[in-house]
Amino acid sequence: MNTQQTLEGLSYSALESVLETAGVNPVHAKPVFSAVQRQLVGDDLDTAEGLLPPVQRWLSSERAVPTAGIQLVDETPSADGFTRKYLLRMEDGAEVESVQMGFPGRFTACLSSQVGCAMGCVFCATGQMGFSRNLTAGEMVAQAHHVERELRRTNPGERLRNIVMMGMGEPLHNFEPTMEALGILTDNRGLNIGPARVAISTVGYIPGIQQLARHPKRYSLAVSLHGASDEERGKLIPINKRWPLSELIEACREYSAIKRARVFFAWTLIRGVNDSDDHARRLAELLKGMDAHVNLIPLNATEGFDGQAPDESRVRAFQQMIQDAGLPSTVRQRRGIDVNAGCGQLKAKRVRG
Ligand code: SF4
Repeated sequence: MNTQQTLEGLSYSALESVLETAGVNPVHAKPVFSAVQRQLVGDDLDTAEGLLPPVQRWLSSERAVPTAGIQLVDETPSADGFTRKYLLRMEDGAEVESVQMGFPGRFTACLSSQVGCAMGCVFCATGQMGFSRNLTAGEMVAQAHHVERELRRTNPGERLRNIVMMGMGEPLHNFEPTMEALGILTDNRGLNIGPARVAISTVGYIPGIQQLARHPKRYSLAVSLHGASDEERGKLIPINKRWPLSELIEACREYSAIKRARVFFAWTLIRGVNDSDDHARRLAELLKGMDAHVNLIPLNATEGFDGQAPDESRVRAFQQMIQDAGLPSTVRQRRGIDVNAGCGQLKAKRVRG
């Protein structure tokens, strides 16, 4: 496992401690944090503004904390221009994907939290590749930096507004590093992303939901459901056998109560599997009385799963039924499908070249 500390992965207070331990006055944390987290100098620390000689000496010494050193391997824009997928190589050679989505005023970065994933959801390309390792906080922050740098270059004046932890991996299965990364990305001395604009997607890893409910910051929680009974859900999401639906819904109700927050549920619509009127009725029943919102996602094709999306009229009929039962919902726009950057499609492989 790569656990090396990097400048990108140091919170402001951790940076102060590191400087102090190195014999550098911790007041220098301010310009260093700004260089790394706001100016996004990356490996080009020489270009950073405002660094005084003591800290420059430390940065160029062997005792300095290194940068994450991630490299762009490949970049793929979608045909509609709303999505760019980046294949990034970590220092140890592991590769993950990050995605930039959106349009002026509403740019979002979708970040990976693990190399591969241990959850094994049958419809998901990442699940099909298995689990290699957790990403460090610095590796997650560095992905956001890459997306933000690209935004500044291609859309001057724009900046990242939203972060979604929906790339490769189950973020709540890598809880502490994910929280550290989000703490840094929401720091107003850095990229200053509003906590309410951060969404953490989980496939139902209950210990993580319980931890998140007790975490001081309030991020959005998005839970992948896809089935309204253990039997149906277990076929798509193997961890349902370990953490059954009744316990998952209870954990979500508890999260909603403690955080006084709406919980978002994702329901991937698969033709003939979970798209009937009966499914819609049971979904509404399951979430009754909870402050919940359902995102309906017509299935994205992946190589290892041969399910299909329902046609549009079925999607609309399903949505109508749950709305009639009082459950708010949206149908997620199918952005980035042509570059395999849609939900459940991320898998580190070169898609071009
Ligand atoms: S859907 Fe999410 S949790 Fe499931 S295998 Fe894919 S990345 Fe992992």
